[in-house]
Amino acid sequence: MDRASEIEEAKAVLLRELNKRRTSEGRAPLAKYPEVGCTVCGETRGSGGPLFQSAAPYIRTCQACVLKEFPFTKLRLPPGETIAWFRNNPTFHRTSDYGIVLTGCALYLYSPFWLMFSRWRRIPLAEIRGAAFRDSRLFPALHIRLDGGTAVLRTPPDYADEMEYDRRNLTEAAERVRTSLPIGRNE
Ligand SMILES: [Zn+2]
Repeated sequence: MDRASEIEEAKAVLLRELNKRRTSEGRAPLAKYPEVGCTVCGETRGSGGPLFQSAAPYIRTCQACVLKEFPFTKLRLPPGETIAWFRNNPTFHRTSDYGIVLTGCALYLYSPFWLMFSRWRRIPLAEIRGAAFRDSRLFPALHIRLDGGTAVLRTPPDYADEMEYDRRNLTEAAERVRTSLPIGRNE
């Protein structure tokens, strides 16, 4: 099977899943795979806020659909606050997942290691003094420097390729947090 027909087959499977969701929610099924709008719920841009592009160019998710997936189900955003960037790594063999969300106002971190909270931690951008990726063989981590200390999000030990994906997520998170800070704040 060539690349183009592979994509068509993937779209057909995704369309069936999309229509199953729509039907269960009492909405009309779509006749064909959406070329615009969210490819999870089938709604066009505007209803669910910004659209997030996945690695596959034909898969786009609206904010409402992102917030329906673990661990984002537990995230409570203040009204009007929209997600600018997010990452997690939902691999089938993990019992839990981490989450990183950046909005225009705050950074949100969720870690399965934080047994004390088991909830999202909100860090206003105004309280952040710096952000860095710290590599380690078993526990690569995102370090967020605050006035009163450092918030650390570690990702779990895993297969090498999963850990490389986590490292890229943590590296990009540190870069995005740094560029979100006012000029001169970041040392
Ligand atoms: Zn959606």
